[in-house]
Amino acid sequence: MRIDIITIFPKMFAPVLDESIIKRAQNKSKVKIYIHDLRDYSQDKHKKIDDHPFGGGAGMVMRPEPIFRAVEKIKSQVASPKSQVILLCPQGERLNQRLGQELAKYKHLILICGHYEGIDERVRKHLVNKEISIGDYVLTGGELPAMVLVDCLVRLLPGVLGDKNSLKFESFEGNLLEYPQYTRPATFKGKTVPAILLSGNHKKIEEWRKKQAVRITKLKRPDLLKNSIK
Ligand code: SAM
Repeated sequence: MRIDIITIFPKMFAPVLDESIIKRAQNKSKVKIYIHDLRDYSQDKHKKIDDHPFGGGAGMVMRPEPIFRAVEKIKSQVASPKSQVILLCPQGERLNQRLGQELAKYKHLILICGHYEGIDERVRKHLVNKEISIGDYVLTGGELPAMVLVDCLVRLLPGVLGDKNSLKFESFEGNLLEYPQYTRPATFKGKTVPAILLSGNHKKIEEWRKKQAVRITKLKRPDLLKNSIK
């Protein structure tokens, strides 16, 4: 997979992309991530990329030309014409594990991070294939949402996580939350781990975990259970 990110704050990305699983995925060539400074695509002599909204109102709006130019340039460099252009914005489809799995199948994504009051509507209408929100709240810019999306996608790519089972048994698989996890010591401050987990009986452990996953989902996210395997 290749991911291109268009932003006015390119330096924000290194602390997240150059660590942990995302870093290893890049080292193993499972994903290539390129950060583009939107100001490089501005033809204004001061590298301005925003302007006042037509009709008046608060704040500034990102101009369409640099964004179109950036996307067109990136597309011209990528062999596959099937690039998916995604705008991070509060109006978009809410990101969840299912949407992450769907997007992880694409070979090339271009992510556009908005800022200020937002982006000229012509970008949304004529350039973008999909709008994605990370939740019903408003952030300062699309950089953190883009990082959330990249993290969600990269760990779903084949071969990125060391153990395939990590994905199979985690929250939202089969619309269930994950079962409780314990590790050493078996007794801590007088609190013991459930005896079944020390029994060595893998069939029984699996049954217990399934029951716990259903119990926890009922308690914390009953809405998920509507579609789950009962
Ligand atoms: N005025 C816009 C509105 O009311 O919808 C909010 C603009 S916000 C201050 C600036 C940028 O942050 C947006 O263009 C978008 O790229 C990003 N952003 C903010 N909240 C987001 C969210 N929940 N999900 C995805 N992107 C978000």
